[in-house]
Amino acid sequence: MQIQETEVALVGAGPIGLEMAVALKRGGVDYVHLDAKQVGYTISWFPPQTRFFSSNDRIAIAGVPLQTDDQLKCTREHYLSYLRSIVQMFDLKVNTYEPVVGIEREAGESFVVKTKPAAGLRVYRARKVILATGGTDHPRRLGIPGQDLPHVSHYFQDPHTYFQRKVLIVGGKNSAVEAALRCHHAGAQVSLSYRRNQLPEKSIKYWLLPEINGLIKTGEIPNYFDTMPIEIGAAHVKLRRSNETFDVPADFVLLLIGYEQDNTLFKLARVELRGECGAPAFSEQTMETNVPGIYVIGTAVGGTQDKYRVFIENCHVHVERVINALQGAAPPPTPEPLAAPES
Ligand code: NAP
Repeated sequence: MQIQETEVALVGAGPIGLEMAVALKRGGVDYVHLDAKQVGYTISWFPPQTRFFSSNDRIAIAGVPLQTDDQLKCTREHYLSYLRSIVQMFDLKVNTYEPVVGIEREAGESFVVKTKPAAGLRVYRARKVILATGGTDHPRRLGIPGQDLPHVSHYFQDPHTYFQRKVLIVGGKNSAVEAALRCHHAGAQVSLSYRRNQLPEKSIKYWLLPEINGLIKTGEIPNYFDTMPIEIGAAHVKLRRSNETFDVPADFVLLLIGYEQDNTLFKLARVELRGECGAPAFSEQTMETNVPGIYVIGTAVGGTQDKYRVFIENCHVHVERVINALQGAAPPPTPEPLAAPES
C-alpha cells in the first residue's frame, strides 16, 4: 500500500482545527487535514437558527472578522457558512469523511496514521500529529429501556417538529432550558424532568433564567424536579422520585443531558488521560501531550467536561503555541484569562 509522507497530520476540522490549518499553511508546513465527518460537524447538529452564546469576535478565527447583518450573535447557519468560507478563502484541503482508525509510532520519530474513508484504507507517515477532535462527540446516554425509540432523541431538532405535541425534556442546564423555551414558543406542550430539586441557576444563562422560571411558576412548563427517567414507552416516560414512580405523557422525549468526548484516538496514541474528565495530559506552553510529537488543541484539551471551562473562545492561543513549538520558537505569552467566558 502506498504511504503518503507528510510533516503533520492534523485531525479534526472544527473551528480550532481550521484555525490550525490556516496557521500551518501560512507557515509553509506540509500537512494533511483529516476529519471523520464534515467541517464544523458538531455545530451542524445544533438546531436551526441556534445563536451562539459567545460573541462573534470570540469565535472568529484566523484573523477573519465575523460580521452579522444584525450585529447579533452568530447563528449556527451563519457560523457554518463562515467556516466554509474560511476553507475556500485560504484554499484549505480538508479530507472530510476520512476517519482516522490508527495512530502508531514507528521506530524513529514518525507516526503511521491510518484512515478509512469510503474508498478504503489509506496510510500516512507524519512526523507530528495534532489532535483537534473536540470534546462533545456524542451525547451522554441514560442507559434505560426505550432510550433508542424513534421519538426519543439526544439532539434537539427544528422546534417545528414538536408543534402541538407533548415534549418531555430531560436535563437542567443550558441545552435543556433553551430547548424548553424554544419548543414552548413554537407551540409545543413542554414539560421538564430534572434530577435535582431546583434549576442550577448559576449554570444557566442569565437571559434564559427569568423566562424559564416564570413559565415554571405559572405551570405553563410543568416541572418534574427531583426525578429520573427510568423507562421510556411509546407515549409516556416513567419517572422516579425517591420511592415513587409515575408516568408522564410524551409524544417526543429530548434527552439533553450533556455530551461526551470520543477519546479513542488519544487511547490509540497512548496519550495519558487524567481525572474524571479524562482530559489528555499536555504542556500548557507547547500543547504537546505526554507522547512526544503528538499535540492536542481546541476543546479536546478538556476531555469530557462536566463543568465547562474550555470553549472555542479561550482556545485560539493553542494554535500559536503549536506553531511556535514546531518552529522551535519560544511559546507565546499566556493570554490574560477571559474574565467571563461567554459560552
Ligand atoms: P451540560 O452543561 O453538561 O448539562 C447537562 C444536564 O444534564 C445537567 O443539568 C445535568 O445535571 C444533567 N445530567 C447529566 N447526566 C445526567 C444523567 N445521567 N441523568 C439525568 N440528568 C443528567 O450540557 P448542555 O446543557 O448540553 O451544555 C453543554 C455546553 O453547551 C455548555 O457549555 C452550554 O453553555 C453550551 N450550550 C450552548 C448553547 C448555545 O450556544 N446556544 C446552547 C446550549 C448549550 P446536573 O445539573 O445535576 O449536572
